[in-house]
Amino acid sequence: MGLNLAGFEGSGSFSKGVHPPDHKEFSKDAPIEVLPAPSRVVVPLLQNIGAPSECVVKAKQEISMGDVIAKPTGFVSVPIHSPINGKVQKSTNVTLPNGRHVPAIPIKAEGDQLEGQALMEDVLGGEWPKDVAGSYDPKEISAAIQNAGIVGLGGATFPTHVKIMPNDERPVDALIINGCECEPFLTPDYRVMVEAADAVICGALLAAHAVGAKNIVVGIEANKPKAVQTMKQAAEGTGVKIAVLKTKYPQGSEKHLIVAVTGRKVPPGKLPLDVGVVVSNVGTMAAVARAVLRGKPLTHRVVCVTGGGIATPKNLLVPIGITYGELIDYCGGLKPDAARIISGGPMMGFSFTDLEMPLTKGASGVTVLTNEDVKKAAETACVRCGRCVDVCPLNLVPSRLAIASRNKKFDVAERYHIFTCVECGCCAYTCPASLPLVQLIRMGKAAITASRKK
Ligand code: SF4
Ligand code: SF4
Repeated sequence: MGLNLAGFEGSGSFSKGVHPPDHKEFSKDAPIEVLPAPSRVVVPLLQNIGAPSECVVKAKQEISMGDVIAKPTGFVSVPIHSPINGKVQKSTNVTLPNGRHVPAIPIKAEGDQLEGQALMEDVLGGEWPKDVAGSYDPKEISAAIQNAGIVGLGGATFPTHVKIMPNDERPVDALIINGCECEPFLTPDYRVMVEAADAVICGALLAAHAVGAKNIVVGIEANKPKAVQTMKQAAEGTGVKIAVLKTKYPQGSEKHLIVAVTGRKVPPGKLPLDVGVVVSNVGTMAAVARAVLRGKPLTHRVVCVTGGGIATPKNLLVPIGITYGELIDYCGGLKPDAARIISGGPMMGFSFTDLEMPLTKGASGVTVLTNEDVKKAAETACVRCGRCVDVCPLNLVPSRLAIASRNKKFDVAERYHIFTCVECGCCAYTCPASLPLVQLIRMGKAAITASRKK
């Protein structure tokens, strides 16, 4: 599959990877609904890669939707805003699905709330002009993104202002918008492209102006023809190109997307900026458009509640800080054969059991797998088949990394580049011995990181 994008040498794909069933059928045709305003939210103070945010409100303080409740504590940090009108309650601690324990601010809803169609219009609806980017100073765009507390909504949670800013030392020639959503089951990005394509293109034009990129390419996998069509329509006359990429996991991983679109390889330890590229996700671009044009912070996001274990799978516009349990209840609850609840999708997500856990900015939804989905053979010893090596898109030796981590041979794990692993799950997906390769690699990384801090 060639791309035929002028100036780029991408082939529309990357080497290795896997082809898991996409299972988008559960929620892909469900239009985004607005979750009714909750009676309470609990907003975690660490929702980004980088430094946590610091609480700036007190218990019993009355606040409105959009008010700052926590300030950034460094450049790679973001402010956090209240998603509802209400009263601050005594601060608490929460555990997130990834196992991190973080402080959080509970807010009890009080007074009228922005909800229903009015909230949808405010976040994704209305006019998104495509001829205004040039009227903004690039620094003004960056500042609006920073003030709005935007992080990568595809799950990376890297503060967006750090990427979307003028950079004289490392010029950017291409802004790639990630519309791949290659993780099985997940559909929020797909629905945003289908229902709010104008907001995505508007945000992309603003972001490209801020970084000085002459080329804007939206990468979408070939299994999303409707999104390709809506995005092409929205991009008409703007110069934004739509690249239809091969459906293969992990096509949406930043480095693989860059190879697929431009043919450029980001060397280990380097950033996309080092090859003149910035990558951001489609939902993030819609949030950028809203922040710059309407001055509104990131208080809500689109998520999906999906999988065979959910009564009525849906795509929902929800406030940050809502609990996973409330999302599941709104979708009719769990089916009797529900077996595993995952924040995100089955390849890169985190299994959890506590439904009181709050949703963060980077969470794209919840997938509930059935007994049938999770049925697999018991773990055996590695049979040295080499399949994990054959599929690893980072050319690592996953078996060696996992075994070194299990045996606490962290020097070996580092020698075999454990930190290059992006935890995509291709190796575990393909392993005939059912070894928990990703969990072991994650454990190894955590142990090495902890020992460095001592
Ligand atoms: S070792 Fe890491 S990067 Fe390679 S396949 Fe496994 S999870 Fe993916
Ligand atoms: S795929 Fe599994 S069994 Fe095969 S070499 Fe890798 S870890 Fe061993």
